[in-house]
Amino acid sequence: MSGVLIRGSLGDIARLAGLQGGAHIEDAYAAAVCWWSAAVAPAAVMPGWRSCVVWGAFLAQENQPSLATALQNTGLEPRRFPHLGLHPDITTETALRAARAATTRRTRPGTAFSMLLTGSPIKNGTSRKSSDEFLASTLRVAWDGEEYRPDSELRPLRRLGPVGNAPRIGVLWEMPEQDWRYDAQTSPASSTRFLIFRRRQEDPHGEPDRRRVTAAAVRALEELTRIHDDLSTCQVDFTMTGEAAEKFWPIRLTEDRFDSEETLPESQFFRLDDHTHRIAAALALAEGTQVITGGHIEAAWSLVARSCRDRARLLCPGDLDLVDRILRDTGAQISSSTGSPQPLPLGTPSPHDAARGAASAVVSTRGARGRNGKVKRDSAVVQDVKGWHGDRCQMCGSVLRIPGPRQAASEGAHIRPLGKGGHDYTGNVLCLCPNCHTQFDQGGLYLTDDLYVVETVTGTVRRRLETDPRHDVDLECIRWHRARWVQDVPPPDRQARPSVVTARGL
Ligand SMILES: [Zn+2]
Repeated sequence: MSGVLIRGSLGDIARLAGLQGGAHIEDAYAAAVCWWSAAVAPAAVMPGWRSCVVWGAFLAQENQPSLATALQNTGLEPRRFPHLGLHPDITTETALRAARAATTRRTRPGTAFSMLLTGSPIKNGTSRKSSDEFLASTLRVAWDGEEYRPDSELRPLRRLGPVGNAPRIGVLWEMPEQDWRYDAQTSPASSTRFLIFRRRQEDPHGEPDRRRVTAAAVRALEELTRIHDDLSTCQVDFTMTGEAAEKFWPIRLTEDRFDSEETLPESQFFRLDDHTHRIAAALALAEGTQVITGGHIEAAWSLVARSCRDRARLLCPGDLDLVDRILRDTGAQISSSTGSPQPLPLGTPSPHDAARGAASAVVSTRGARGRNGKVKRDSAVVQDVKGWHGDRCQMCGSVLRIPGPRQAASEGAHIRPLGKGGHDYTGNVLCLCPNCHTQFDQGGLYLTDDLYVVETVTGTVRRRLETDPRHDVDLECIRWHRARWVQDVPPPDRQARPSVVTARGL
């Protein structure tokens, strides 16, 4: 079984933590990723304006040293990262409330501040309902951001003050196994937002070269400090290379495979794509780039896959072979998929705050979730539309090639969302690639009445929507979408023939 791919500066720091503190290098590396993701969270924006936090829950056996302490001993500490506050040893609800309140006070537009909570207030016990609810509402908002917050979660938060900004909270919990098992059973929706790791014993790699490891970690810390300083004044939208996007696809489909296995615990094996995306983004930023490459995806997946196995060992040990088989299949698909090493043309990075309000063209990680968070399968309507277009994106013409029966991946995009009064019929569905889907859903792209694709922010006209005689796109839905997102452009009849189109003689 292949292990975690240890990478870059965070890997160098993890090696030193292992050397000094007797921690397993994979554990220390996962903890360092959580740590770093909190440090860069104010600058790093995921689709839907969620912060890029990676949460780890580390299940320790007795006598294992704290990973947070091990990292701190390497020099990975908030003093070097002035935009990160550390709240150590959050082991009670009171401490959590205090940390949450402090974060809310510090989290205002432009303050670029985040917090890392270590310890764990999750405890196996009874009569903890209000505490669990507080934990869930606090943490889920920090993970999911504003747009994905149901009203029921907003209500308790309003009592805590303004909710205009999701606090950037990073989490590095360390706790006994039975506490995690309790949390996973009482609050699966929260627990899947964590990558869980059962701590390993010390690395059996023999005595590494202490001087070499230390020197590498010192260089790594300098590098991370410099990157963190650079990020303090800007906001980063991530983009993926074509290769990364192709490697990402099998991971999204893996969620479906877990979902369709009856014996696996419900809702415990999803958000894999989201976890992978966040880790890959954190790894990219640790290397000073906002372009996620295939290498970042592979490394991130190796960490997620380990967490999946640990989750299975904890919650469904009898199904470990099944979980392993699924993970192996995904790993094989990821390593065999290829694609362009260039950033996707639609995902032009926009490094500064000015980009806020523009939809970031990155691969969507939302998926279609049902009410309980389970991934929904395509309706027959969506399957029809995808079939008519052969999985070719109607907006940019790209086809994502993946292994599998269809050999291609696409998304059915509801022009008017079902949650906003739209209906599930082919006139309201487009066949899009994930990039165009994200941009369209978030208003970065709209359609004119004569089906030209226009970039909302720049007004640039891209090309005409690809059509098929079997597919009648409903103009009313297109107008609804345009009215929702486009306030500052001329009304539809004038917009229908943008000047750029005329200039190109189209
Ligand atoms: Zn597209």
